Amino acid sequence: MRTIEADYLVVGAGAMGMAFTDALTDHANVRVALVDRRHSVSGHWLEAYPFVRLHQASAFYGVASTLLGGGQLQRRGPEVGLQERATQAEICAYYAQVLERMVESGKVEFFPNSEYVGDRTIVSLISDKRYEVPERCRIVDARYLAPSIPAAKPPPFDVAEHAQVLPVNDLARLEQSPGQYVIAGSGKTATDACIWLLSRGVDPDAICWVRPRDPWMMNRAVVQPDPAIFLGMSADMMQAAEDATSLADLFLRLEEAGIMLRIDRTVMPTMAKTPTLATWELEQLRSLENVVRRGHIRAVDRGKVTFSDGSVAIADDALIVHCAADGLKYPPLVPVWSAEAITLQPIRAGFPCFGAALVGYVEATREDDDEKNRLCPPSPYGNSMAQWAQMIALGTRAALSFSAAPDIRAWSDTVALNPARVPQGAASPAALDDARQRLATHTRPGLDRLAELMCADPPG
Ligand SMILES: Cc1cc2nc3c(=O)[nH]c(=O)nc-3n(C[C@H](O)[C@H](O)[C@H](O)COP(=O)(O)OP(=O)(O)OC[C@H]3O[C@@H](n4cnc5c(N)ncnc54)[C@H](O)[C@@H]3O)c2cc1C
Repeated sequence: MRTIEADYLVVGAGAMGMAFTDALTDHANVRVALVDRRHSVSGHWLEAYPFVRLHQASAFYGVASTLLGGGQLQRRGPEVGLQERATQAEICAYYAQVLERMVESGKVEFFPNSEYVGDRTIVSLISDKRYEVPERCRIVDARYLAPSIPAAKPPPFDVAEHAQVLPVNDLARLEQSPGQYVIAGSGKTATDACIWLLSRGVDPDAICWVRPRDPWMMNRAVVQPDPAIFLGMSADMMQAAEDATSLADLFLRLEEAGIMLRIDRTVMPTMAKTPTLATWELEQLRSLENVVRRGHIRAVDRGKVTFSDGSVAIADDALIVHCAADGLKYPPLVPVWSAEAITLQPIRAGFPCFGAALVGYVEATREDDDEKNRLCPPSPYGNSMAQWAQMIALGTRAALSFSAAPDIRAWSDTVALNPARVPQGAASPAALDDARQRLATHTRPGLDRLAELMCADPPG
């Protein structure tokens, strides 16, 4: 067994592990062993469906030292004027380049196809070689929130022998069109599958969308790397929270303010993972009229889909597209720094890469774990509306906490991953001054109200 001379063992080379390692090694003279059971860096993106793109601007994703993409506005297509969004291939190529730079620095050693089996031990899945790290080496858990994806999970329902079911990844490899597409899932992957099918000329009536929950999504136009836009949206959000009489009222106010979107305005969504969506995509989704809202699928068979309260007929040769993996994960929040591990989680609400980079920077620049935990309390992802309120409340409090440290504030204003950054020396248009003023007015009362609302999950 070889001993790796490392100060940190980072378990998981996805977005979180890469962002942490990059910020840590840029600010401290340390050695990192980076391990992943996959064959390369990039995490779940290596197995994502081929037509996926980031749902947010590229600038918000990746590592702090290196901008993903060119920071350009889109100049063609239906999102002209919005920031570019990287494809799967671009994301994987980007992380491969970042890894090369890390390895060249002499600070990082990468162990692909290798499993961390606990007890400071790594085992190669290819050669069975074993490695250990010394006692002083800190373990970094960069897989705590690793999403589950359809390519890696069988469908969560029974599949009869003659039913045709395929994971969303295989949709792009179809060689014959079925009589009907049945999309199973409510989340971002399902919306991508619907929009992709429509882009390939599939008739909206040939798509049946089994949507167990209706989703709230954020309007991509207001989640942009422009401080006047992002801080203006944040101020609107806090004002809506301050005035909200209930969770449902909060989301309706956010919809009214152009922040939240829902596909069907006659249905109150209960799911609030809130990926961003463009309004052209919303229009496309609204063209699908065959929507089945009967809860989760129990079983599929030739010609029918079964739910807990009965069955729905589908075409005999229907193709069921599995988009029903959980996606985001919701384990309990834990302190980022503990004796056992540094557990990477988002800090500012909903921006995992920024959170992991921030933890890397704070780890590099501070000694005391209690102080680090005080500066960077974790925030969860949203799922229900109450959890979304909790994400915004905890994430905003965390942002107030770490921004109070002058060096962190200065660093985070240089990092494009930080959606709220105001670059030094940037012009301050009236819209930005207005947004800052409104944030100053509404943040405290908005936070107080969110703290009440996050405890109030609506029935059903
Ligand atoms: C389709 C999709 C699109 C998304 N789009 C966005 C977006 O636009 N913007 C955004 O901010 N977020 C987005 N997300 C959210 C997602 O949470 C982020 O991409 C997130 O940062 C995932 O990175 P991760 O490092 O947590 O997980 P992963 O990418 O899954 O990386 C974790 C890694 O840990 C490895 N691992 C686990 N256990 C072990 C072990 N014991 N030993 C060795 N290796 C191990 C796994 O192999 C994996 O590669 C998206 C998610 C999905 C599924």
